[in-house]
Amino acid sequence: MTTQNPLKNVLSAQDTGYDEERSGFQAAYAHRPALVVAAETADEVRAGVAYARENGLSVAVQSTGHGLSAATNSGVLISTRRLKDLTIDADRRTARAGAGVTWAEVIAAGAPHGLAPVNGSAPGVGVVGYLTGGGLGILGRQFGYAADHVRGFDIVTADGALRQVDAEREPELFWAVRGGGGNFGVVTAVEFDLMPLATVYGGILAFADEQVERALAAYVAWAENAPEELTSSAALMAWPDAPFAPEAFRGRYVLTVRIAFTGSAEEGERLVAPLREVTPPLVDDLRTMPYTESHTIHSDPPAPHPYDGDNLLVDAVDAAALRALTGPDARGAVVQVKHLGGALAREAKVPNAVGHRGAHWLVTVLSALFEVDRGTARAAHGRVLEPLQERKLGRNLNHLFGEFGEEVVRDAYEPETLRRLAEVKAAYDPANTFRHNYNVRPKVD
Ligand SMILES: Cc1cc2nc3c(=O)[nH]c(=O)nc-3n(C[C@H](O)[C@H](O)[C@H](O)COP(=O)(O)OP(=O)(O)OC[C@H]3O[C@@H](n4cnc5c(N)ncnc54)[C@H](O)[C@@H]3O)c2cc1C
Repeated sequence: MTTQNPLKNVLSAQDTGYDEERSGFQAAYAHRPALVVAAETADEVRAGVAYARENGLSVAVQSTGHGLSAATNSGVLISTRRLKDLTIDADRRTARAGAGVTWAEVIAAGAPHGLAPVNGSAPGVGVVGYLTGGGLGILGRQFGYAADHVRGFDIVTADGALRQVDAEREPELFWAVRGGGGNFGVVTAVEFDLMPLATVYGGILAFADEQVERALAAYVAWAENAPEELTSSAALMAWPDAPFAPEAFRGRYVLTVRIAFTGSAEEGERLVAPLREVTPPLVDDLRTMPYTESHTIHSDPPAPHPYDGDNLLVDAVDAAALRALTGPDARGAVVQVKHLGGALAREAKVPNAVGHRGAHWLVTVLSALFEVDRGTARAAHGRVLEPLQERKLGRNLNHLFGEFGEEVVRDAYEPETLRRLAEVKAAYDPANTFRHNYNVRPKVD
């Protein structure tokens, strides 16, 4: 293998640090590349991509590893976790983040200015992986997808060029990267909008055991009438009697309604009153909190572990679906019912590739692969989602966890969007160098 490009910070399988660098949050499987480029600069990313091109290798990208989809066993892995530059422009209400920055870091940096990003439920997720996949946030109904708020990217494409891309410069690529995932190159930095938001009213209402089914049906009916300023979801889980479980949940089957509302506490209390009246909640911690505490609304697991998960975007959750979501198969998994609509249903000011904006609900089913193998988990997930198939619009790529076939990419976009993505792919990555993702294949004439 030869290269004209000076490679720096390279690790191969014999090197100390190789295993740590290729490992991420998803512990069910991992990249095993020929080389890892532990990039510290955009130029090092560029050298890594050029090296791959010159040697006929594919390129995988990893930041935190929350969204590992297709592992490489022979390509070059660009590890972006050291690209930690982060600047806030309080006057323009924007952030510019390197590809290794996580949402926790943006939330912390924005807070002193009273600014918040359009982040998701887990602050440890990487900014770039999240928003290239769309980015469905805890305040999505008010602010839309995170991809809708991107102003521009720096991206290294398969030809080894570092490009500045925005609504004016290379607009087709700008359209595609916002929703089309990691298919088009390695994003080295991204600039995006922040919202003027210092606090949020929210938290959880939890219902247990024999109250769960009634509370879930009441939640779905209640959410349909919520204002856009309120985003909510429900999570269902049979908690083990184990120390990692919150004390109140141990050994119980629990429905947690997670709420985030940007209006006043008084208005929030008025809005949630009907839910509190369904049946007395086991836990009720709704309050006004600094935005820096908003991760407590979902309390996603912070530690790496093995998991697998599927989802469906649907236009309605009917009675048959509700039964399946609380049935025996569902009780071995974590089921989430996420309320969409509002700004999520509207096209971004500068349109992008996010699919299926018409969906009203996202239903996800996920299993930690400790006591169950992937095949058994997938079969159960299929049975849980089966009654929703009739109402299916598609799938959300950010809420797929594990390796899947091409059908999930077909499901993620309307046919016209997928056709256009394939054209952009053919223009910027005709050899499909960036294929270790939910892969959009280049259009062949
Ligand atoms: C606990 C948990 C909670 C989550 N909550 C939400 C949520 O609320 N809303 C939501 O929308 N999603 C959510 N997700 C999904 C998450 O947004 C995706 O898995 C996302 O891809 C993770 O990005 P990452 O950089 O952290 O992970 P990585 O595994 O490092 O990256 C995932 C993929 O993104 C692409 N990618 C990453 N960095 C780059 C780059 N610099 N250039 C080009 N492509 C790149 C690559 O294809 C890569 O394989 C959650 C995931 C988990 C595990």
